[in-house]
Amino acid sequence: MKTVLLLDDDEDLSSLLKAALVSRGLEVIEAGNACDADEALQRRSVDLVIVDGLLPDVPGLEFIEHLRKRDPRIRVVFVSAFFRDLKTFKRLTAELDVSLVLYKPIEPTSFAEKVASVLEPATCERSAQGQPAPSEPSPLALELAELRRAFGKKLPERVEELRRAIQEVKQDLSALDKARMLAHRLRGSAGSYGYATVGELVGLVEDLLVDAQEMSPPRRFFWEDVESALRDASKAAARAPSFVRDGSSAAVGAERSLLVVDDDPDFLQMVRALGRRLLVDVITAHSAEEGIQRAESQPLVAAILDVHLDGSDSFLAARRIRETSGNGEIPIAFASVDGTIETRVAAIEAGGTRFFDKPISEEGFAELLQQFITISRQRAPRVLVVDDDADVVDQYTRHLRAAGFATEHLSAADDLVVKLEELRPDVLLLDVYLPRVSGIDICRALRSSDQWEFLPILIVTAQLDADTRLRAFRAGASDVVGKPILPEELLARVGIQEERMRLLRDRADRDSLSGLMLRRAFVESFQRALSACSREKRPLSLVLFDLDHFKEINDKHGHLAGDRVIAALGELLRRRFRVEDLRARWGGEEFVLAFPGQGVDFALRSAGRLLAEFAEQQFKTVEGGTFGATFTAGVAGYPDDGASMSALIRRADELLYAGKCAGRNMVQGSVPPAPSTQDPDPAG
Ligand code: GH3
Ligand code: MG
Ligand code: MG
Repeated sequence: MKTVLLLDDDEDLSSLLKAALVSRGLEVIEAGNACDADEALQRRSVDLVIVDGLLPDVPGLEFIEHLRKRDPRIRVVFVSAFFRDLKTFKRLTAELDVSLVLYKPIEPTSFAEKVASVLEPATCERSAQGQPAPSEPSPLALELAELRRAFGKKLPERVEELRRAIQEVKQDLSALDKARMLAHRLRGSAGSYGYATVGELVGLVEDLLVDAQEMSPPRRFFWEDVESALRDASKAAARAPSFVRDGSSAAVGAERSLLVVDDDPDFLQMVRALGRRLLVDVITAHSAEEGIQRAESQPLVAAILDVHLDGSDSFLAARRIRETSGNGEIPIAFASVDGTIETRVAAIEAGGTRFFDKPISEEGFAELLQQFITISRQRAPRVLVVDDDADVVDQYTRHLRAAGFATEHLSAADDLVVKLEELRPDVLLLDVYLPRVSGIDICRALRSSDQWEFLPILIVTAQLDADTRLRAFRAGASDVVGKPILPEELLARVGIQEERMRLLRDRADRDSLSGLMLRRAFVESFQRALSACSREKRPLSLVLFDLDHFKEINDKHGHLAGDRVIAALGELLRRRFRVEDLRARWGGEEFVLAFPGQGVDFALRSAGRLLAEFAEQQFKTVEGGTFGATFTAGVAGYPDDGASMSALIRRADELLYAGKCAGRNMVQGSVPPAPSTQDPDPAG
């Protein structure tokens, strides 16, 4: 493993760069001043030194000279916001043999890539070819997003600190150096963390302070200029944390934590350590109550619960966790030492996406986390970027992913329609100047098709003149954005479009009474699930429900009471089961539920338990009395009962009808073929 010494006095910037370097497999030693760096270099061998231009004790350039005298071969990377003049550049590269000169603000991912390529050009080429496929979530992206968010949170305080330092300068000019240093650091780190506006504004303050140093006393209006730049910086800093979407529905890892509830402290410790290694923010709880409390105060990416929690019902706890704000659809896994089918059914009903046996290995746990991230990603809003400039695509992709969007891109519009069909993006980012066609013409064409009539299209153009804007809007663009676009503006604009789209789609797809999907949306999702299961050779089961004597309920207690029964069953269906289980109002007082990956036996038990729970509910009548309701259900399974959606529905309906004839209030299913005697455990 190669070792890098990172010499920079800005701790925030240093931790950002360190995270990026570590993700490239490098070991990183940090030093805040030249003296510490020197000491570190005497203690151990280092392959590369990264030197900041402005250090608290000696100038970076001097340190490199000193370094060269001791070790003419060690690789050096010079990083600074200044020293951009040709003379210094030549001195650094030609005389001091510095491998790389980089200017702040620094984009951490490409920084790490460049440093790695200095160390090992061959490895770098390989990894550049084997770049992670666009859809792979990189742990680095998640970690960077997390670092960025944490930095954004303290950004207002950092600006405030600078303001205080400047107040001091007003009283006593000798405090100027300190204020200048603060401004300098904040400029570099804010920019590098992606808060470009703050970085620029603080940069303005720094430049003013540099001027002031050169002419004492400072000129008239000087303080006014400083104050106004500071005010702007402070406003921009206050907005900073919101640049990262708060992502109530879909952000992946970036700002959500994994909750683990277990009464075994050793298990919790292992999980926390693994979380740190896998760059997932893990929060732990020792009891169901504590777990629920945690979930109330924090949006989660997923939860893992021990089935046998001391003195509390963990299935109930899982339900309560999914009732907390923002966590309604998170995946949940249960851990247990006993994997009986009853436990498994209860787990699935309580929302358990996965069920694993304890003890779990580290690899098993890592795999589980990966699955959670994949599930979250499938739910992440999708953005398709069409731009022929690879750098632009790269930049958008990084920022959008860090904010919880899933992205894909095209460098030309030739295959756009195919890609749209396949990806079904929530937002399309379309460049105007593309090979062969104009983005504006494409936009117009898409708008004239039924399918893409309402797709949010953001036209991106370097020419933001009135004429171009007008043409874009006339062609049906949802928004027009100028190039280059600041990351925060990109996220804000894409976020607005995506949210509007989601609301519209949700309204169209969701039944307002039961809160479930409508039939049309269900059919679409079911087809996808069915083909996935057939591809992966997994079972799939489907349950069709019909409320019993519902006409009578309406007649006796009124239509409103009937509505409440429908809403209650809808709620029960929504609250139970896993994220990937499909639940819909099929029509009138009929409902449908599908379990991808689960066979008929599972569905039978699940529906049976649902019926028991539903039948226990009491509904109030206007007269002050109460009544209960039941349903009858039929269960069909793929592949035994049919290979198509219609065949499965038909079979489930037959069984439902049989149940009605047999007295209602029951769940009917074809019994799966009896296991042969040689194979007592076909499920295992
Ligand atoms: P069975 O047990 O055989 O299913 O009898 P049933 O009375 O439930 O069946 P039937 O199909 O005869 O009646 C269904 C009733 O459900 C008729 C319809 O008015 C009522 N219904 C359908 N949708 C709604 C709704 O949204 N709200 C209310 N309150 N009633 C509805
Ligand atoms: Mg009916
Ligand atoms: Mg009915």
